[in-house]
Amino acid sequence: MKQEKTVSATLVNNPALTGRGACCDDDECLNDPAQLPAEIMESMSESVYTLLEGVGEDPEREGLLKTPERVARSLAFLTRGYRQDPEEMLKKAVFTESYDEMVLVKDIDIFSMCEHHMLPFFGKAHVAYIPDGKIVGLSKLARVVEVFARRLQVQERLTQQIRDAIQDVLHPKGVGVVIEAKHMCMVMRGVEKLNSVTTTSAMSGEFISSESTRGEFLRLIRPEPKKSQLSHPCKRKPRPSS
Ligand SMILES: [Zn+2]
Repeated sequence: MKQEKTVSATLVNNPALTGRGACCDDDECLNDPAQLPAEIMESMSESVYTLLEGVGEDPEREGLLKTPERVARSLAFLTRGYRQDPEEMLKKAVFTESYDEMVLVKDIDIFSMCEHHMLPFFGKAHVAYIPDGKIVGLSKLARVVEVFARRLQVQERLTQQIRDAIQDVLHPKGVGVVIEAKHMCMVMRGVEKLNSVTTTSAMSGEFISSESTRGEFLRLIRPEPKKSQLSHPCKRKPRPSS
């Protein structure tokens, strides 16, 4: 875990990899973290060319001519979280506030890629914390999810990294994170289970020590019953016969 933090920090601060000066901290640059230096994009494209040959394709046929470049660009976009520092991002929107009830942002869309197959996994993240004198801009909770999701991941680690970043920056009374996701490596290959959803959770502080806090969090993120279920004919009370 510790080693991984070092790796991300190196990537974030390495101007050769980020394509911007290490001292540059204005939002203009940070708006385009997908960018990678031209020479890296080129060698990534060459690797995709090799992959295409490997699967028996002809990378020179018309439809595939620009594919290596497109795949490299798409990969840079999907992994742009390596070039963003989630804790720095959170720190920019921390405010002093006496509110001390649970803050919950639920149903945050996540799109990530598993590190074992580099295939997508996607679903929803629910993030909650109980402030202890400090709150953070709500959109930043979604952004921190996004930064960690746009890296090669396992869902378990993704869940914990989100918790740890919020815990480290805000020092709240507790953090709760639940992620529900479908993994394409399970759907498209391997066990080919179309509808299986993987749920992971990571908690700290009162979310661990207080059963009622944890219970409230889990109750709040429970999906609301669909209207069709509520009004299903077999669940209606029979009308009194006249
Ligand atoms: Zn996988």
